This record gives sequence, C-alpha cells and structure tokens, in this order.
Amino acid sequence: MFTPLTDRTVLVTGGTKGIGKGIAAVFARAGANVVLAGRDRGRGEATAAELGGAYVAADVRRAADCERMAAETAERFGGIDVLCANAGVFPDVKLEDMTEDDIDEIFATNVKGTMLAVKACLPALQRSGHGRVIVTSSITGPITGYPGWSHYGATKAAQLGFLRTAAIELAPKGITINAVMPGNIETEGLAELGAEYREKMESSIPQRKLGTVEDIGHAALFLATDEASYITGQTIVVDGGQVLPESMMALEEM
Ligand code: NAP
Repeated sequence: MFTPLTDRTVLVTGGTKGIGKGIAAVFARAGANVVLAGRDRGRGEATAAELGGAYVAADVRRAADCERMAAETAERFGGIDVLCANAGVFPDVKLEDMTEDDIDEIFATNVKGTMLAVKACLPALQRSGHGRVIVTSSITGPITGYPGWSHYGATKAAQLGFLRTAAIELAPKGITINAVMPGNIETEGLAELGAEYREKMESSIPQRKLGTVEDIGHAALFLATDEASYITGQTIVVDGGQVLPESMMALEEM
C-alpha cells in the first residue's frame, strides 16, 4: 500500500494537453493539488477547470517564466512537492534539411526548458522534504531512432544525461529525479501524424496498441510516492514492449 499523495502539490509543465494533462489527471485523482504550466492561456485555463487544478502561464524556454511559475505555484499552495518536467515539442525534419534554428528551437524547449524548470523549483522541492522530479523523456533517442527526429532524439537523450548528474547533486537535498520514457502514446499531437502512422506503429508494438496518457501518469505517480524515495537517476520505459523486437519478423512470428 502506498502512502497517499493527498494535498501534495504537483506542478506539471506542458500539463495543458497530451501526456502532461494525463499525468495531471492521475495526480488529481490521487488527491494532489495540480498546477498546469503552458503558453496557451485559453487551453490552460480550460484544462485546469476540467481537472480541478490551477493554471500558470509559462514558457519554459525562459528562466524568468520558470521562476515565476515556481513562485506562483508555491504561493498558491504553500510549496511544491513534485515537478513533472514534461513540456516538449517534436517537429520533424530530416537532417539534410535541418536549419540551425530548428536545432536551437528544439533544444531550447526540451533540454534548456527542462533544466530551467528543475532549477527554478529546487528551493521549494527541498523545503518539501520529499521533493520529486519526474522528467518526460522518450524511447526515441535514448533507445530508438526515427527518420526526421534526429534532433528530437538528441534532446530526449540529453534529458537523461542531465538527470544523472542532477540526481547526485539533489540527493543531499532530499530530492529524487527520474524519467519516464514513453513509447507511442495516444495524444492529440500523435493524432496529427495521421491514421497510417498510427496503424503502422500499433503493428510494431508487441501489445498491438498505443499507450494512454494515463499509462505515463501512473508511472510518474509511482516515482512520486514516498515508497519510491530510494530510486533516483533512473528511467522507466512505458511502451507496451515496443523496444523489444529484434526485427519485424519477431512480431510476425506471433
Ligand atoms: P503535446 O500534446 O503537443 O503537448 C505538449 C505540451 O507542452 C502542451 O501542454 C504545450 O502547451 C506544452 N509546451 C510546449 N512548449 C512549451 C513551452 N515552451 N513552454 C511551456 N509549455 C510548453 O505533446 P505530448 O505528446 O503530450 O508530449 C509531452 C512530452 O512527452 C514531450 O516531452 C514529448 O517529448 C514526450 N513524449 C511524447 C510521446 C507521444 O507519443 N506523444 C512519446 C514519447 C515522449 P503550450 O503549447 O500551450 O505551451
């Protein structure tokens, strides 16, 4: 039995839609105060109302926004116990067509944004006494590759490089930092990639289905529990077995 997270305060960057919204929904059902950060105020306020949480406008690419996001969350709920550093973008472009701006933009959100959000929340997380950071990485980059996402994969692997040293630095502060590595998850963003992409992806997953945003939320919830306090600097792949087949033949045998 896990200790309830009732009244813990959970800040989810990119919590206004997709995986972040799913993470926030799982924490809200567990009785936590949830705060969702994102740039689009209309969507943020609507999602916060839907989940019974609060919205804070923030662009994680900017240090000042991250500082304000942390300050507003701590002021509203008296502290921050869990930061889910989830905000991310995944534009696709092949390497030969990639511009310097394409690279700067994706690193600004996925890598710099993750680091700035964590840094801004550190004092509050330390005061919590059971501070938790859960980063949303991906299987793409750390384990797998996909054409058009060489820059994206680099950012998702970079997040793991960041958290391993951060875990050492944060351990004396009583803060753990771990990552969830989703496979292909059913989101509005993934829907935009089209039906053909979806069908092909499903056929390449041993469980023959995409993951749900709640699947990622449940992994994040576990890492936030008191019972997970001795786990830090680690990763959990949540992908229905997607990274396992050696080749398509391994699946066709089934
Ligand atoms: P999504 O549906 O497009 O949602 C992205 C969220 O991030 C939105 O709330 C968005 O809100 C926010 N965001 C984007 N840029 C931001 C910025 N600069 N500052 C603050 N918030 C920002 O994406 P998703 O599929 O849920 O992806 C979420 C995370 O999961 C990403 O880190 C992604 O790499 C990872 N992931 C996704 C999948 C998948 O299958 N979907 C698989 C593996 C990993 P605003 O636009 O309003 O700012």
